[in-house]
Amino acid sequence: MSSSAPLQPERRRIACLPGDCIGPEVMAVAQRVLRELAPDLELADYPFGAAAIRATGDSLPEQTLEACRSADAVLKAPVGHPEFDAADVRPEQGMLRLRAELDVYTNLRPARQGGVDALIVRELVGGLYFGARGVREDGTVFDTCEYHPSQVERIARRAFALADSRRAKLTSVDKANVLETSRLWRRVVHEVAADYPDVEVEDMLVDNAAMQLASAPEQFDVIVTENMFGDILSDLAAAMTGGLGLAPSASLGDDGPGIFEPVHGSAPDIAGRGIANPAAMLRSTALMLEHALGRDEEARALEAAVESAMRAAPTHDLGGQASTSEFADAVVATLAP
Ligand code: NAD
Repeated sequence: MSSSAPLQPERRRIACLPGDCIGPEVMAVAQRVLRELAPDLELADYPFGAAAIRATGDSLPEQTLEACRSADAVLKAPVGHPEFDAADVRPEQGMLRLRAELDVYTNLRPARQGGVDALIVRELVGGLYFGARGVREDGTVFDTCEYHPSQVERIARRAFALADSRRAKLTSVDKANVLETSRLWRRVVHEVAADYPDVEVEDMLVDNAAMQLASAPEQFDVIVTENMFGDILSDLAAAMTGGLGLAPSASLGDDGPGIFEPVHGSAPDIAGRGIANPAAMLRSTALMLEHALGRDEEARALEAAVESAMRAAPTHDLGGQASTSEFADAVVATLAP
């Protein structure tokens, strides 16, 4: 190569984890759409979940973890297979480990429909899902919920910054009338609030938050909450705004790659029939274009194409007849110039 040859910009690399059951079906759609919309991206598949356990005995093989660490973003389809439901090594363990290894402590779950435009910000690497657990000699089983103030502070800062860029309202959800970790949560959120004077902040107990989400969801802008409360409330919000087949998520750390994945599971009941709705996977892909790659224009175009495909080619969960690939055709047709 001559010394005057222009430097090629480095290609952005996406680690793709096709996962299990309907995972590879919806991942194939995301990759087809990305090849149309952003052909410069390098897409590479890595084994993860049940497929990886069968091949290597580990749901998150070292090679997959390394590829994720060094990628610009991780695009993940759901994992989980009935074959491993009662096994010692389960696909979901790899998922929790991947989140912890990449320290993606912020899980963003947008819920939008009609007059509802809420963003749930869930703490993702602390609390009950990561605390000590075990069985005592007398047969008692325990899980523990722990938070360090620094874990609460970093997620609170992220949530305030997001609220500041939206409608400037933050609802912090806890169970401070019962739990010590919630009292800590509430104190730290209010300390951080001092740095965001333009954001209106309110506290809401989790039981009330569930009722308010179900009865008056349009009141919410950004909701910030701990891991398990966020897990449950965001599925409720997804159900309120069109169902699991439509709900995307982004999991972000500070410096490393984020993980972009649908909220739904691997849907073994419909796997292999070509009827899975790829909308949540595609919306997660749009979040990746926006948050990991700064490609807002392509993200907006993809979101609009998914909206229009939902009307033109609804899948069976949306009350229509379209197959996964017919939905994909409709998205690609809208994106094509
Ligand atoms: P699920 O989300 O897989 O399925 C619930 C229902 O929604 C099923 O009737 C399914 O057919 C339907 N559904 C889900 N996604 C759909 C889509 N894209 N299009 C059309 N219909 C869809 O939940 P589940 O049955 O509780 O879990 C199945 C497996 O998925 C389990 O092994 C579970 O551990 C795993 N799981 C994985 C993730 C993840 O990888 N992030 C999340 C949740 C569950």
